[in-house]
Amino acid sequence: MPNELAALPQFPWYLYLTLLSVTLGACFGSFLNVCIYRIPKEIPTGKPSRSFCPHCDKTIPWFYNIPLLSYIILGGKCKFCEKKISLRYFLVECLTTILFLLVWLKFDPSGTARVLGLDPVGNIYVIPVYMLMTFGLILGTFVDIEHLILPDRVTLGGIAAGLICSALVPALHGADTILESLKSAAIGGALGWFSLWGVAIFGKMIFKKDAMGFGDVKLLGAIGTFLGWEAVLFNIFVSSLLGAIVGISFVKAGKKEMGSQIPFGPFIALAAILWILWGPTWWQAYMDLMPAPIDSSVIEMMNYK
Ligand SMILES: [Zn+2]
Repeated sequence: MPNELAALPQFPWYLYLTLLSVTLGACFGSFLNVCIYRIPKEIPTGKPSRSFCPHCDKTIPWFYNIPLLSYIILGGKCKFCEKKISLRYFLVECLTTILFLLVWLKFDPSGTARVLGLDPVGNIYVIPVYMLMTFGLILGTFVDIEHLILPDRVTLGGIAAGLICSALVPALHGADTILESLKSAAIGGALGWFSLWGVAIFGKMIFKKDAMGFGDVKLLGAIGTFLGWEAVLFNIFVSSLLGAIVGISFVKAGKKEMGSQIPFGPFIALAAILWILWGPTWWQAYMDLMPAPIDSSVIEMMNYK
């Protein structure tokens, strides 16, 4: 019996799942474009589900609506009215495809993750959760850039999704039991929410205007429920650093005035993506730099004196 099994050609499942991740990324990227356009305008994302041209309102048939390929083949123009389709559509599809692939490569039975320097994941169920997060983070980013709002569907929906995913996949928090995982999700969510809430309140007291939107508070809460408190601390540090660098460069380049509003959601989202891909490795490197706690043998030696 084992000999017969051994004689069967090995199913190249890793390759199939890699191709599936790329395809999923391209399709979800295409759907993201629909959501980014429709959610702030409160057009239902379900029916009518066919995409339409934002200029001439013509329904786009499926063969002109293939993710990534159609944009290249049609040269970024509508087939009917020949008006330019924003490059954003193509960029969102590329970005989603690349991120879905990187998230998949974190699953590491063959050592691919370490070659790419990605933080490896041993539990395959964590991967779709990271893909779901990536979807929400890209959605929030592009809506925030265009409309300066983070939709509740992304932020509050993200908190609910984070709690559900933590219950379904305890490995998301490196936990063995559902209870342990939910505890980590609750601590992460609370830390994310209250730390930025504090910044929002103090910012308003000092600057006499909104320094931070409440959407950012809810977004970091959602990230905390998915990724735990370490990711929240990392996020506050990295997103403020990136935000400050970009904000100062915009002012220097004369594109923004000092004190004008720059959406902060995209920096929180970017920091969360960085954590998903590499965070725990960086966290470990940081902890290794910290002085080691005094262990019991040192205390014993001191007691001998
Ligand atoms: Zn058109």
